[in-house]
Amino acid sequence: MPDLIITNIGTLVSGDWENPVLDCNTVAIRGGLIDAVGGAELLSRYPDAQVLDAMGVTVAPGLIDSHCHPCVGDYTFRQKTADFLESEVHGGVTTMISAGEPHFPGRPKDAAGAKAQAIFLSKCFRNQSPLGAKIHGGALILEQGLVEADFAEMAREGVWLVGEIGLGSVKSPADAAPLVEIAKRYGFRVAMHTGGTSIPGSSPVSADDVIRTGPTVASHCNGGPTSISTAEAERIIRESDAAVEIVQCGNYRMTNFILETAGKLGQWGRVIFGNDAPSGTGMIPLGILRNVCYASSVCGVPPAVAVAMATGNTARVFGLNTGVIAPGREADIVCLDAPIGSVADTALGAIEAGDIPGVTYVIINGRVAVVKSRNTPPGNRTPRPAGQNDA
Ligand SMILES: [Zn+2]
Repeated sequence: MPDLIITNIGTLVSGDWENPVLDCNTVAIRGGLIDAVGGAELLSRYPDAQVLDAMGVTVAPGLIDSHCHPCVGDYTFRQKTADFLESEVHGGVTTMISAGEPHFPGRPKDAAGAKAQAIFLSKCFRNQSPLGAKIHGGALILEQGLVEADFAEMAREGVWLVGEIGLGSVKSPADAAPLVEIAKRYGFRVAMHTGGTSIPGSSPVSADDVIRTGPTVASHCNGGPTSISTAEAERIIRESDAAVEIVQCGNYRMTNFILETAGKLGQWGRVIFGNDAPSGTGMIPLGILRNVCYASSVCGVPPAVAVAMATGNTARVFGLNTGVIAPGREADIVCLDAPIGSVADTALGAIEAGDIPGVTYVIINGRVAVVKSRNTPPGNRTPRPAGQNDA
């Protein structure tokens, strides 16, 4: 794969919420990783590189969906729809993290079956994914009867996620906390459904349950779609160390409350964004961008910090080497611009104004996956290979 250089970048969003905009206009990619970040002087260091002229648009890390419910391939039985994962890539998402595959028809609800499903699906999604997106599937659903040896076996086979606690037969903190402790020891990241039930068979989960169970992520703190109370959400922020997840399919009023409260407490670094799709709400290809726009335009989060909630924050929580524009990181990148007709003339301005930016390029592991999204409005400007004129 030849080196790739993106230059003439108008705004470079880092994905790091504490330093969200970089004063650089060029990113060099080698071997699927970001190799250097700097100015136009980088062009001479990579003489054989393909050069992408960003035409002054905004470049950001590829977005991460912290809460996806893939099933098998790019099909969901929940809403009987194909290509929903590929559609999300057209919304700027390069990484999707499963919060469990409860919609698999006939999903086995015993320990051996749950383990087998997790191993099977984690391998399937590693072997093949739409447009090369990073689909982290095979999130174990906790069922009664799982023991430490099961987690050891799954870890050896590459399983590293526990899907939302509450979906399976292990529900109470008394049952779940010992398994969460074991799972974390084997390197698993653990999600826990928070709030009212979303599908038959799952159970309401309170702030107290989250605090006593100790998951990595308090899933959909803003409801999925039914939320805990504001007092409970504040307890999760103050009394747990879990990531505070906000989903597109949640409760907007609670989104406002959580972002305001997390901001006051200096905890924006713990906020991550998910879609929670497919769900009863459906599939939302632009769901992560919609979260970013809502957080910025309605809740007052600076736009580049809102992007970090969909990139670097999530990568840190899940230990992924993506989501940040820095040397050594996987070269998962999106080019964004204000959509044609927006009151703003940059992507960050559009986000702050509540307009979905136009996704013009999506790059995964240094390879171009999408040119001109089929789902976002068109951007004012489209990056193009250097030397190429307007058609
Ligand atoms: Zn849930």
